[in-house]
Amino acid sequence: MYPSPIWIRTWSVLAAGLLVIEMSGLARAALSAPVSRPIRAVLREPLPPEELSLTEEAAEVVVAGPTFTYRVQKATGLVSAVRVVREGREVIASSGPAELQLDQYRFASAFNPGKLVVERAGKDQAVLRVEGTLRDPAQRGPEVDYTLRHTFFNDGVVVSAVKLTPRGELRVERELVYRLSARGQLSHYLHKTRGENGSDAVRGSLPPAGQAVRFTAETSCLQVFSPAAALAIFTDGGALHLSQPKLDTAVVETAGPADGPGRISLAQYLIRIAPGDPPRVLKAGEPLTFRVGLSVAPNRRPHPRMHDLRMFTWIGDEKHPYPTDAEISRVAQFGFTLFQMHRVGTPGLPRPPADEFMRVLDKVHELGLLFLWEENADLMYDSAPGVRELKAKGQFALWQGFNYGGRYTAEMDSYCDLIATCLASPNGLAEYRLANLARMMDRYAVDGIYLDDNLAYGNCTLAREHGHPREVYDCLIELHEMNWRRRELLRRRCPHTVLVSHSTRAFVLPVVCNFDALIYGEGYSFGSLTDYWSYFGFAHCLPAQGMIWPGGQDIERCPASLVYNYDLLTGGGQYSQIDWRLFPHKFPHAKGVTPPEPFYTQAYNLAQYDFGMYESRIWRFVDAADLFAATAPQTFATVYRNQTWGDWLIPVANMANQDVKTALAFHSPEALGFEPHKDYVLFNVHRRLARNLRGDALNAAFSDLAISGGSLQLFYLREAPGQAPFHLWGGKRISERWDASARKLTVSLDGPAGRQDTVFLAGANHGLQLVLAGGAPARFFFDPAQGLVHGQVTFTAKPLTLEAHYSVSGTNRLPHKVAAPASPYF
Ligand SMILES: [Zn+2]
Repeated sequence: MYPSPIWIRTWSVLAAGLLVIEMSGLARAALSAPVSRPIRAVLREPLPPEELSLTEEAAEVVVAGPTFTYRVQKATGLVSAVRVVREGREVIASSGPAELQLDQYRFASAFNPGKLVVERAGKDQAVLRVEGTLRDPAQRGPEVDYTLRHTFFNDGVVVSAVKLTPRGELRVERELVYRLSARGQLSHYLHKTRGENGSDAVRGSLPPAGQAVRFTAETSCLQVFSPAAALAIFTDGGALHLSQPKLDTAVVETAGPADGPGRISLAQYLIRIAPGDPPRVLKAGEPLTFRVGLSVAPNRRPHPRMHDLRMFTWIGDEKHPYPTDAEISRVAQFGFTLFQMHRVGTPGLPRPPADEFMRVLDKVHELGLLFLWEENADLMYDSAPGVRELKAKGQFALWQGFNYGGRYTAEMDSYCDLIATCLASPNGLAEYRLANLARMMDRYAVDGIYLDDNLAYGNCTLAREHGHPREVYDCLIELHEMNWRRRELLRRRCPHTVLVSHSTRAFVLPVVCNFDALIYGEGYSFGSLTDYWSYFGFAHCLPAQGMIWPGGQDIERCPASLVYNYDLLTGGGQYSQIDWRLFPHKFPHAKGVTPPEPFYTQAYNLAQYDFGMYESRIWRFVDAADLFAATAPQTFATVYRNQTWGDWLIPVANMANQDVKTALAFHSPEALGFEPHKDYVLFNVHRRLARNLRGDALNAAFSDLAISGGSLQLFYLREAPGQAPFHLWGGKRISERWDASARKLTVSLDGPAGRQDTVFLAGANHGLQLVLAGGAPARFFFDPAQGLVHGQVTFTAKPLTLEAHYSVSGTNRLPHKVAAPASPYF
């Protein structure tokens, strides 16, 4: 859409104001000069520490990770308290122990002292073991010997193996239940059962105070969450024995107003007997074993690169398994930072022609991107030596799985022939998977893993062969441990490693907590913006980057124009792309490819690249209503502020199908850093229109916005220093210096090597002599109506130096030319 006449008129008037800006006077260098790190350096900064510490106090053992603290009572072995912080602020605090209750027997009781031993106190894992005896306070039942063995992981998960051995016959007349109450910043719930993989998990908003949501299916994981925090309880023994169907197996309950705000209780039943039904009898000397666990988020500190993890996936096909150097360069020029190869073979064993692999890896690294190798949680290449060996011995049942009917193939690529393996990675499969990764890291400087199909499926029929605790079991606890072991290995070998999980809609905390990014969708659309943030914003709680799969052969998908509304309103960097969509002539395999897709992808990716999401603070539409709001129905805005440069990026989006007129009303501009008496330049990023304004005219500048259906307008704002020219847009600004005596503006700009784009300079209209790019004269123009200097540059592997020379005389020597919109689609 092109500017309406109102826009043109308004801008012409205001742009004239730019002409009066004087160049003489205060040198900008007098101010402290900001400097940015190029994105390639930020991507490679090591992850923040993910370490556990264990301290013993008089009555408790304290296990603490980067964001969470667990306390364990020495006397009983119970996890007595859980506390989780986010940026120093408490977001979850338990209001009692994580309690196991067996009818009248209580673990949290002075009647049954136990003995605690610290078996392991590692930085990755701590193991505590407690042995004791449970006593019935009314002395009606027998004594019950118990063992609790807690394994604390540095990812915020604790798995507690429980063994209960009654000394005499024990009649369970009501329940065996695992409970936790906590107060926290939580808004939604999710319940996963042992029989499905989590994409069909029941989910919703937490009930009003004093009400409960009850579940009757075989419970596996019950979690409460928000984009700020999450808490889950899980068990491998959910609904082991119900005296009749339809009894509650799990309950999430919101406390009444008397208990204060935000308190919720979670319960999972292992045994449940309805009143009057026969008891479940536990025989003397026969142990009952099961596992329960807790998982919390945030479970680590954020990495600044998070919202810059823009992933591209190379799937290829039989004819073109590896990308050419030119295609890799093109991908880099789209502003992606992660290059994932999707069908490259068993980790460490690249597919034929294998010598192509090093070329690709080197090229990806040369261009500054990180390389991710894809593997599956549920499949192995049929060609993998370990698979061949086990098959030859006739023992493949030891690893066998059942997803995709046991085998996954792709019609356009015969190398893609994979065999299903059990999600628990049993009988040495976990070690085989890890050995593959270790060999991969020995041979190649791979930066991380894209783990496909990371879902706790409940479809294994080989419970006995695989040592599963139940006939129907989702392998959730083993899948978590496999994911944790992978993360530990890769973090050791590559301190900046990136782990991406594909989990469709199944955001089950212990399954996904070991990943830096969660990709969702089979290309499907999202119900509404608030639903998107409520459910898919989950990734943020870890914290992890969310990623949206663009759809390959999927019929249903979110169009590329609309998807950036979701992306830019909620944090950025989420829309991933694939070769099948960006190179459709070479790979005619994707459904619904439209001509504008590459334009949208490139324009919005590069806008984020140039603004520097890694340096930015965000005010999302959803929690900034007191600061600003878009006024028309179905329109929304989010504000980003770069903390290094102090500038702003503001997407204003229209979620409706039809075109609308809206405004963006700032209620509290000072809170966003605007000052009423300062001067700013407002730039429409895609239409390439600039105007200057004073801080107190902010609302007027945003009062009349025309936005097409299902799209957005992207605005950039920078304070105008007043006395000096400055870089406005185009390329990631690394540094900028105005030398007043030499009348020279020097800007260092980072961009993907080979990218051609327009750079805009603002703030001084007189005396332009010459612009040099990389030391050579560059074709730059002056747009007198907007007071903008603009010209095309080609970015290089190292940041490009741009020098603009100004004369004292005030004569402009650049040719005049109007700045044109970035593409016909904007
Ligand atoms: Zn199995």
